Amino acid sequence: MPGLLVATDPRFADHQPGVGHPERPARLDAVARGIREAGLDEALVAVEPRLATDDDLARVHDRRLVEALDRFGAAGGGAIDADTAMGPRSMEAARLAAGAGLELAERLEAGEADAGFCAVRPPGHHATSRRAMGFCLFNNVAVTAAALADRGERVLIVDYDAHHGNGTEEVFWRDPRVLFVSLHEWPLYPGTGALGDTGADEGAGSTINVPLPSGATGDVYRRAVDDLIAPAAEAHGATWLLVSAGFDGHRADPLTGLGLRAGDFADITGDLLQLVPAGRRLLFLEGGYDLDGLADSVGAALARVADVDHRPEPSTSGGPGSDAVAAARAVHQRAVEGG
Ligand SMILES: [Zn+2]
Repeated sequence: MPGLLVATDPRFADHQPGVGHPERPARLDAVARGIREAGLDEALVAVEPRLATDDDLARVHDRRLVEALDRFGAAGGGAIDADTAMGPRSMEAARLAAGAGLELAERLEAGEADAGFCAVRPPGHHATSRRAMGFCLFNNVAVTAAALADRGERVLIVDYDAHHGNGTEEVFWRDPRVLFVSLHEWPLYPGTGALGDTGADEGAGSTINVPLPSGATGDVYRRAVDDLIAPAAEAHGATWLLVSAGFDGHRADPLTGLGLRAGDFADITGDLLQLVPAGRRLLFLEGGYDLDGLADSVGAALARVADVDHRPEPSTSGGPGSDAVAAARAVHQRAVEGG
């Protein structure tokens, strides 16, 4: 059985954004349940994440943000904005969440497994170079992508969280080493991710946004992988795949309106894995706020990674959005041609 590394840690439960907050410690219990119900406990290797250092974080974040959050946490924390909060133990969780991908990437480079999953919180994809926002303190996927790019890798990041990965987009907006693709519901928080936003300067064409209507189903995502992401990844010469794996596109999610079910996350994840060689694939937990939907979707997605058949729910099709994929493809084509 192909190996799967899973980085997680009990200290993630110490990040407490407040009573009633949807991004709650029980989410990682749901992830563990989904892994168990998929029968993957035997197939995976648990890895303790390491703490991201200031230098690791500085590849992506302004050092003043790191210092400010250090100070805020040491003083007990509190609300950062209307959605985002931290407590006294949140900084340790955030540094572990940002360090998990670094640890797994090095282990994959050493040949320990075919793929890795960072079962972490707080999530990361909304955090920009200078700002913690959208439940996110540091941009976990971007920290690993930047480290890999600095080692000469050609990185593909696919963000299938229901929300636009505005932070990841901002970090790599002008960076041709990283191809960033976001599929997200539109309109929805944070309001970025328009079809015409394709990167700038040397990074022109290395950002792809696929804004999708409420109710979009799995067939639309599969079409996006086949028609748009696969050819773009090939043209990019992708050597690594990092997935911002948010599961809030599940139709039961309380924060969003997409139409996905667990089987779709198996399909989409499986299709994406084909884009790079084994041993160069990392998934990062982002959103997912319906605990049963999260458990089923993580289980289905990771089963696919481990080559196990587990579909607690079927795939979906027939929803709106295929025209958005065609439009994104046309926009990307123009962007890479310099139009
Ligand atoms: Zn989300």
